Amino acid sequence: MKVVSKISELKNQIGEWKAAKYSIGFCPTMGSLHAGHMDLVEASKKETDKTILSIFVNPTQFNDPKDFHQYPVNTEIDLMLCESKGVDLVFLPEVTTMYPETKTPIQLSIPALQKNLCGRTRPGHFEGVLQIVSKLFHLTEPNKTFFGLKDYQQFRVISAMVENLNFPLEVIGVPTRREEDGLAMSSRNVRLSNKERETASLIPRMFALAKKTIHSGERDINLWKEILRDFLLTGDSLRIDYLEVVDPIGLEPKDKLEGEVLLAIAVFVGDVRLIDNQIIQIPN
Ligand code: AMP
Repeated sequence: MKVVSKISELKNQIGEWKAAKYSIGFCPTMGSLHAGHMDLVEASKKETDKTILSIFVNPTQFNDPKDFHQYPVNTEIDLMLCESKGVDLVFLPEVTTMYPETKTPIQLSIPALQKNLCGRTRPGHFEGVLQIVSKLFHLTEPNKTFFGLKDYQQFRVISAMVENLNFPLEVIGVPTRREEDGLAMSSRNVRLSNKERETASLIPRMFALAKKTIHSGERDINLWKEILRDFLLTGDSLRIDYLEVVDPIGLEPKDKLEGEVLLAIAVFVGDVRLIDNQIIQIPN
């Protein structure tokens, strides 16, 4: 496995692979890797010849500087995990490599997909994501790229960027990997105390309650959201950032429970922000 931090080294390797007609799969991450990230790697290895994983804690996508500084870093273990899963190249750039000083910064955004959910409560977040991911796409030249559906809005925003700007690649969504109790795996979970971890288990239980109430006939969307909110708020030190029901494609708020809906939440447990979502099919 190659580990490179300079763009020139990355480009050299990609040049060789392209010349040999290998297809390239790319999994962008912020490190502190877990089994969810490895699912992206596994999917990439199945579908492409060479897998690149990047580790870069991207400062421009953090609207809260404290969150950025507290983001867990675990590079040595990350590299061992990548090696054991057969990643071909890890790209580990410095901040100054990705963001050399410029007087003419660019800004990308997809307003229609960013006005709700995390786009609403984390201003600037998706601009930062689009900026870094578009740069990484140009640098890694992948045929396919793999994104977790846990960050569903990110998946939609990246897919829309690729479509709008004709990036010659395919964006593939990978299902959310969960802990035994159903909590979505996240690099941030290590920051939860035992008590907070217990509180966090209310999240998968809320999704179970969401499905149960739908199957027992609940169709009043406001009442449904209220039941789910009240359930979450039984948790100690849990604060809801948002709990929204939107259309899974356009991410527009739904006013009726019908068809497919995306139930998406972000909560703070202590000062750790956790997100999760599920697509729920509402029976006729
Ligand atoms: P992150 O390092 O949190 O920026 O995540 C890097 C990529 O891994 C993103 O595409 C995430 O959606 C994906 N990812 C993170 N957690 C999970 C998970 N539990 N299951 C599947 N994919 C995930």
